[in-house]
Amino acid sequence: MRAAVLEEYQEPLAIHDVDAPNPEAEGVVVEMEACGICRSDWHGWQGDWDWLGIQPPKGQILGHEPAGTVVEVGADVENIREGDRVTIPFNIGDGTCHQCRTGHGNTCENVMPLGFAEPVQGAFAEQLHVPAADHNVVQLPGSVSAVDMAGLGCRFMTSFHALAHQADINAGDWVAVHGCGGVGLSAVHIADALGANVVAVDLSDEKLDKARELGAVETVNASDADDTPQAVQALAGGGVDVSVDALGIETTCRNSVMSLGTRGQHVQVGLSTQDEQGMVALPTDMMVMKEIEFIGSLGMPPTRYDEIFRMVETGKLDPSAVVSETVSLDDVSDRLASMSNFETMGIPVIDEFA
Ligand SMILES: [Zn+2]
Ligand SMILES: [Zn+2]
Repeated sequence: MRAAVLEEYQEPLAIHDVDAPNPEAEGVVVEMEACGICRSDWHGWQGDWDWLGIQPPKGQILGHEPAGTVVEVGADVENIREGDRVTIPFNIGDGTCHQCRTGHGNTCENVMPLGFAEPVQGAFAEQLHVPAADHNVVQLPGSVSAVDMAGLGCRFMTSFHALAHQADINAGDWVAVHGCGGVGLSAVHIADALGANVVAVDLSDEKLDKARELGAVETVNASDADDTPQAVQALAGGGVDVSVDALGIETTCRNSVMSLGTRGQHVQVGLSTQDEQGMVALPTDMMVMKEIEFIGSLGMPPTRYDEIFRMVETGKLDPSAVVSETVSLDDVSDRLASMSNFETMGIPVIDEFA
């Protein structure tokens, strides 16, 4: 089968034939119909995240936003059949630990990020093997197309879990979203659908226009603002209730915390870059005085996807709104390279693998 293989960090991926996967007893093989290209792939391609222990090894197939059809089923799989249309959350779990058994499979004690570790080769390929399929495979409803599902990708489910499960958003709350890439634009759209007033923050007017289209009622261009948190606070009448760092650099993380009002909640969604390596200085005294919460959010439990699907089916959420274009497997390296300068808008989705 054809696959895009990481041979050298920051060099174009090598497109060549590799052996097609065979299913383990508890695994399935999925034929790809669509896969999103994401900033997380860019981080892997850069060679980032060695400080997290998830730097992809050379020889790895990247790609973690798949949708497709099951073509082979292992002997011990109980609930997945050949021909099922499915997606697979990037946070691959073992299905057996305490976290998995209590509905928190996204924080599995043996979690493996799809496409970032040798045992879980990714979806920039014609076929994908999924271990512990009964736990990790999510059935797609007939109304959600493969391209739409890939458009949902990790950004949408990550933002959904962050805002609908991790944060406590009530109707009319002010929510700030710092960084309007794929995760940020998804967060804007979801927060709006949950009944919040959204302030979007970015350096690009074009991305802020898109944020307005997706439901932001106010925007701040951080390159124009002397003090971004103050500008956000002024728009929200004195500090937002929930603020999301949807990028993961030091500036957006701190700006997000500083945008909060008393008893506000910061949700950290973006993972950091080589510059921070996971360490960011924060105003802890202010956080004590205002009883500010700092919340981490990772992916989404596979058991809760129906919540998203129900909102997509009734038109409250529209994942295709963040898909920018469909491309072929041969275009992946080019699209990754364009992310280096934050030139991309929305999400490119691969829909041609052969
Ligand atoms: Zn587990
Ligand atoms: Zn992703």
